[in-house]
Parts: sequence; C-alpha cells; structure tokens
Amino acid sequence: MTRRCCASLLSLLAFLSACGTMSVQKEQDLSREFERQVRREYRFIRDPIVNQYVTKIGETILQPLGPQPFEYSFHVVEDEEVNAFAGPAGQIYVHTGTIQRARNVTELAGVIAHEIGHVQKRHIAQNYEKMQAASWGKELAVIGAGVLGGQAAAGAADLATGVGLASVLNSFGRDAENEADAFAVEALPKAGYDPNGLPSFFETLAAEPGPHPPAFLSSHPAPADRLARTRALIAAAQLPPNLREDDDGRFEIIQQRIALLTRGRARSKGEVH
Ligand SMILES: [Zn+2]
Repeated sequence: MTRRCCASLLSLLAFLSACGTMSVQKEQDLSREFERQVRREYRFIRDPIVNQYVTKIGETILQPLGPQPFEYSFHVVEDEEVNAFAGPAGQIYVHTGTIQRARNVTELAGVIAHEIGHVQKRHIAQNYEKMQAASWGKELAVIGAGVLGGQAAAGAADLATGVGLASVLNSFGRDAENEADAFAVEALPKAGYDPNGLPSFFETLAAEPGPHPPAFLSSHPAPADRLARTRALIAAAQLPPNLREDDDGRFEIIQQRIALLTRGRARSKGEVH
C-alpha cells in the first residue's frame, strides 16, 4: 500500500468531518475525488467489452429498482484477490480475481448485487459518518493545521490513499453484511438472475485452498453463517420461474478475455470488502 498523501482529498474529508450527516449531494461530491484517487493507485481493465459486460449486469440489477439518487458506475480492477468494494454515490469496483474465480454469471451477479446493497442501504455514507465522529476527524484536523508526523499523521496518510479510504469505507459489521446479502437475494430474481448465485459463490470461495478466507469473506459474519442465512432467505422467497443461471457462454468469453488481457501480470493490492 502506498502512503501518498492527497491534499485535496484530505481537505474534502476535513470539510465533511465538520458537516454532520452526509447528504446525497455530499456523497456525490466525494465520489469524484474518491474515483480519482482509486484510479491513481489501482490498475483498471480498460477493455470496453469487459467493462460493458460488468456494467450491464449492474444495470440489469438496478433497473427493476426504479430511479436512483446516484448514477451508478461499475469498474473492473485488475487484481487477483477475490474481492469487490463500493465507493461513495454508487461506485462499484469488482476485482478481476472475482470474475475469474466465479463459476458462472449468477455468482458474479450475486457479488455485484451485494455491493449495490451496501450503497442502497447507505452503508458507505454511514461509515463516513462514523469516520467523522471518530478519531479520523481529529487526525485530519491535525493535518489541516500543518502538524505532520507521529501516529496521527501516519493514520491519516493511510486514509488519504484510495486503497486506505476504500478499506475504511468498506469495513462493515455483521448487520450491514447481512443487510447487503438480503438485498441481493431480493434484487437478483427481480433482475432475472437466480439468487442462488450468491451462496454458491460463498461455497466456491470456501473451497479455495489456503489458510485465510478471501477478502470478500473475511468480514463478519462467518462464511458458514452467511451461506446458511442466504440459503434460508432464498428458501423462504417466492422465486419467479425461468431465472437465469448462465448467459450462453458470454461469461466464459469474458473470463478468457481477462486472462488474455492480464497474461503475465500478477497484481494484488490492498484488502477491502
Ligand atoms: Zn459486504
């Protein structure tokens, strides 16, 4: 993780830390700076076919929800870590590792719907508010006063990177994760996707070798709880017939395209979920 300090982002955060509850307008203002910062630090897939594919899934999930306060945007981060995260005002970032490890389009749609859930439920905005109320505000005030050095400055420097900020904004507790999962289970069938893609993705990840769970699963509640909970929600739901389980090979073509685009490059940076 880089420790580059971004003065404009710090001043924006310092401004927000003095402003109480964040409005939709403020979240939109912060969104632009957040995206600039994240783009400086991550490598993004620029291939329009891959980007359009992921955007289309996101728009398909959003469409039945009606008009939105934000204009959502979907981005593909070149990173082998299985992860996805949300930014302010409807920014959704999906790692290539998530697309490559998913077994079909419904698993990927499950992850995207979960991240949309964090935005819809204002979890990102709530984390900003918590950040304002906590020590970050004091640390930013220290930076603002030009007193650089010591623990406070190091903490604020982490926060001032896109990766650091994304990590803080995507630190969710058990309730928020459950809420985002429940949102996904409800939204996916309305968009024509089989909601079993979400628990199925949890199973895919649980089967991954290695001592540590992938970042997407590393939060509370435990993966087994999450799996059981989503399965129970789906069992209790009245699902419409003819839900999409695959998309006639398009997903596999996108996976092959990403493999070609990223061939010879292994990249992983940061851990957010
Ligand atoms: Zn989450």
